[in-house]
Amino acid sequence: MQTHGIDPGTGFLDRSSCLELVSKLAFSAAASGQQLAALWIDLSRLKQVNESFGHLGGDLVITQIAQRLREKSAGRGEWCRMGGDEFVCLMPQCDADRARQLAQELLQAIEAPLRFGELFLHPSASIGIAVLEANEDPFAFLERADRAMGTAKRQGGGRAVASGEEPMPGRLGILLAREELAIENKLHLALENGGLSLHYQPIIGFDGSVEAVEALMRCTADNELIPPGKFIPVAEKTGLIIRLGEWSLLAGARFASHLDQAGYRTKVAINVSRAQLASPKFAQALHAALLCANVSPELIELELTESLFMDISEIVQTNLHAAQKAGVGLAIDDFGTGYSCLANLKDIPATKLKLDRAFGRELGMTVVAEGVEEQAQLDSLREAGVDAIQGYIHAHPMPEEALLNWFQKRKAS
Ligand code: C2E
Ligand code: MG
Ligand code: MG
Repeated sequence: MQTHGIDPGTGFLDRSSCLELVSKLAFSAAASGQQLAALWIDLSRLKQVNESFGHLGGDLVITQIAQRLREKSAGRGEWCRMGGDEFVCLMPQCDADRARQLAQELLQAIEAPLRFGELFLHPSASIGIAVLEANEDPFAFLERADRAMGTAKRQGGGRAVASGEEPMPGRLGILLAREELAIENKLHLALENGGLSLHYQPIIGFDGSVEAVEALMRCTADNELIPPGKFIPVAEKTGLIIRLGEWSLLAGARFASHLDQAGYRTKVAINVSRAQLASPKFAQALHAALLCANVSPELIELELTESLFMDISEIVQTNLHAAQKAGVGLAIDDFGTGYSCLANLKDIPATKLKLDRAFGRELGMTVVAEGVEEQAQLDSLREAGVDAIQGYIHAHPMPEEALLNWFQKRKAS
């Protein structure tokens, strides 16, 4: 029979009783001026036991370890089971040194081999230690123990870490975090105040045609230009990339329509990030952009980074096919820098491959070499059978007006 408040597998208090108890103990510790410590214990590899021996096997391990914990702590604390393989020991009248001492003893007890039929298991654990601070919220106190346990785990497990002893993010880490915050702020500013723009860089075929122009986002805030290498990673981290991406889809599609009306019918290639393509709103955003810009879809090409194809989720698959059905082109960007292999490419409805600066190879798609700066590179790429070139050797990315002038000059000569 299940007793309320008690975990049947271990006889420990269950999670909700633990939360009740910690509040009570924290209150009396504060009233009496005594210390209260908590150990948060996480067993390693229990998932493996469950997978190899089933949940009955896992339960058996838990029961035996719980027995060891109870014996070793011998009345020094109250035991609670917080869930699957996580335990908490609440210890009244216990300071940091004694908590650390008990943690070491518990680790030793846990690590003794455990017989399992013919096999011996070698259990291990990670332990986080916290001591209640003056006026501290009891749940925040427990959370600190949990976080310290996480640190112990990341350090490889089999150890105890006290809250407050976790390695601080280094000075460099703090500076980076601040810079990211500043960039995030500037991205918001730019989104609201028209600080975003697209520059366009021509991609030119060896037959002399303009294969496409690539739309590259530029961001200005507080009169400062932030390079994409800086703001794109921050946008991806914060999720802002979805809004930026929708903005560039629409702006790029509008410009494609504008170019077409000006008599320069050229594809505009727009970069799409992984997060956008994994969003259920992607297909809708694409259709909206095509419709608003009143542009024919074959004038739009989406550049998808190679890393996307490492692990194609169902939603990405659906979005890729929606894009294909909408009639836009798909190009694989930065090929050669990531993980995809040529074999994977057969499964992707792409029509173009954009090689990263370092690579060259032919396939059944249009092959574009990126970042070509010198004549010697151009010559060997021509030799290798690459179809088109994007790079400073032909043109740098430029604002809309400049690109229109570039087209005009080209036509004239
Ligand atoms: P990408 O899509 O691979 O774009 C090509 C990058 O190579 C551009 O950098 C371009 O200016 C640069 N490049 C072109 N020719 C040369 C060359 O001859 N030499 C050298 N050294 N570089 C060359 P940019 O404009 O700084 O953009 C960097 C990356 O930021 C892009 O790489 C793309 O991944 C990302 N990005 C830019 N705009 C967007 C956007 O609207 N959405 C998303 N998701 N990503 C974007
Ligand atoms: Mg690109
Ligand atoms: Mg690229």
